[in-house]
Amino acid sequence: EKLYRISGWGDPYFRINAAGHVEVTPQGMQQQEPGIDLYQLVTDLVARGLQLPLLIRFPEIVADRIGRICGSFQQAIERFGYPNVYRGVYPVKVNQQRHLVEEVVNHGRAYHFGLEAGSKPELLIALALLDTPEALLVCNGYKDRDFIETALLAQRLGRTPIIVLERLQELELVLEAADKLGIDPILGVRAKLSAQGIGRWGTSAGDRAKFGLTATDILQVVERLRKAGKLHCLRLLHYHIGSQISMVSVHGRAVREASQIYIELVKLGAPMGYLDIGGGLGIDYDGSQSTNHSSQSYSLEDYAATVVQTVLTTLEPHGIQPPILVTESGRALMSHQSVLVFDVQDINAASPYPMPTQLTSDAEVIQKLNQLYYEIQPDSLTADYRRCQELKDAALRQFTEGSLSLQERAQVERLFWNCSDKICTLAYEQHQAGHPVSVDLLDLDEMLASIYYGNFSLFQSLPDSWAIDQVFPIMPIHRLDQEPRQWATLADLTCDSDGKINRFFGDDGQITSVLPLHDPDGEPYLLGVFLGGAYQEILGDLHNLFGDTNAVHIRSRPGGYRVSQVIKGDTISEVLSWVQYNSEDLAETLHHATEAALQQGQISLSEARSLQRHFEDNLRAYTYLH
Ligand code: PLP
Repeated sequence: EKLYRISGWGDPYFRINAAGHVEVTPQGMQQQEPGIDLYQLVTDLVARGLQLPLLIRFPEIVADRIGRICGSFQQAIERFGYPNVYRGVYPVKVNQQRHLVEEVVNHGRAYHFGLEAGSKPELLIALALLDTPEALLVCNGYKDRDFIETALLAQRLGRTPIIVLERLQELELVLEAADKLGIDPILGVRAKLSAQGIGRWGTSAGDRAKFGLTATDILQVVERLRKAGKLHCLRLLHYHIGSQISMVSVHGRAVREASQIYIELVKLGAPMGYLDIGGGLGIDYDGSQSTNHSSQSYSLEDYAATVVQTVLTTLEPHGIQPPILVTESGRALMSHQSVLVFDVQDINAASPYPMPTQLTSDAEVIQKLNQLYYEIQPDSLTADYRRCQELKDAALRQFTEGSLSLQERAQVERLFWNCSDKICTLAYEQHQAGHPVSVDLLDLDEMLASIYYGNFSLFQSLPDSWAIDQVFPIMPIHRLDQEPRQWATLADLTCDSDGKINRFFGDDGQITSVLPLHDPDGEPYLLGVFLGGAYQEILGDLHNLFGDTNAVHIRSRPGGYRVSQVIKGDTISEVLSWVQYNSEDLAETLHHATEAALQQGQISLSEARSLQRHFEDNLRAYTYLH
């Protein structure tokens, strides 16, 4: 529990059970039934023929998240006597998988939960799936005539599409389309707030933000609409100040500023009626409930209360009817619903060789390194490490000049690792005892860590880990009743040195470069990556042609679970087709080459058959390792 902080980031969906396995409680921990044993589940799925890596989705978590978000707003509305309602929308871009969007629509029906589309393909998804009366279809992003006409026509199906103007230029297109179709648009404006988010996505607002209208632009929209006799169409004010906001006060400032703009718009004669405060609701990746960028120092209840109370107290003195409140929470809704499970294929132990008992070389540099090992002292660690590096560098120079043999270089390597290992161990002891220790020495743990090679692609499954240094909780899903004895970093299957993970949450909530893991015991060792259900699936790419992983949807039922969907991952043939290779042509080319080799006696008939069988079997195979 403590090592991996699961009770911090996992609550209320993940915990450790008595068997030492991760257990999933898709409806939150208040459910009466015991949860789903994740290790047992993966073992069963593998026995059914599904290969690792596996993406396991729990749609009930999506339903639970919707319930919690809507419930928090309902509570706040009742608590403050807010005279209007909450209507959430799910931004489809966060995870467009059909089964998940269907889950949102089905479970959201009771709450009139809607969808947000940011592009034409997403608009088509939302238009086709969203059949809930009163649910909003918020159209954000840049739009062309096609997009706008489709959105307008959706009104004829009884939908409520709100076209949010992101750029001034879109207004003329909307007015033309509305005129042509004879349909009054339901219009919104996205404001560029001066209140900015914080952290990685802080520049989503502010004067130089990519999206949104300035105060001058908004006034122009109002005047143009007035001139066109369409000011009655302006119904919504929207902003989005960035994702993963760790402090509720930041939300409070933004809502306050937006409420003020809302008041001005009403005073200018627009009917309004909706305030859409975008996304930004964070999740607690590191479990510290703090203002770290990877954390969140407020609850869902705090968030809803801040929004409801701020809007109410800002509007009340002006006698303006408080609007329907809309949020576009993506990360907070989708992150928890999936777990990526992969197996460790291989381990490269950092210091696999013991200290040499006898030196087989009398080279001075080797003798000195050996002596240094026995002279290392807790009060001279920094100097000892510097000396150790100098000796190693000198030895490498001598090897390049030809004065040390390969055997001697190997001895230097072993001595260097052993010295570093001793220095690192002593540094940690000093650190634990409260003595100041240089950061460089504490960083040695990464150099000395074992590398665990995982059967997954970082670029396909955890792109944010590579692109923006996002840290996700990672831990073994079994053997949690045994003490892990290795410090490790993770490497993926790609031939890319960036395909590694060396940023984890330590047991004190700080970022560390190594993860405690277990020694191999001859059985598959399974690791889970948690909270990656938002953005990762669609941002993932085909680096090295590792394709989509197998995915399953799991639902709980009394006494266990049932598999509600199996979505097979990409085959090699499929990923090849995306880079314009035709599998049949490739097989044929290989066939010709084999025939020619047979004619020339370079290959036997059985070898030729075997090669061809491998080739064809592989075309149908999963892109990951068996
Ligand atoms: N709305 C808009 C306009 C966005 O750009 C985003 C994401 O960046 C979201 C909503 C979802 O934000 P979050 O995932 O922080 O809830």
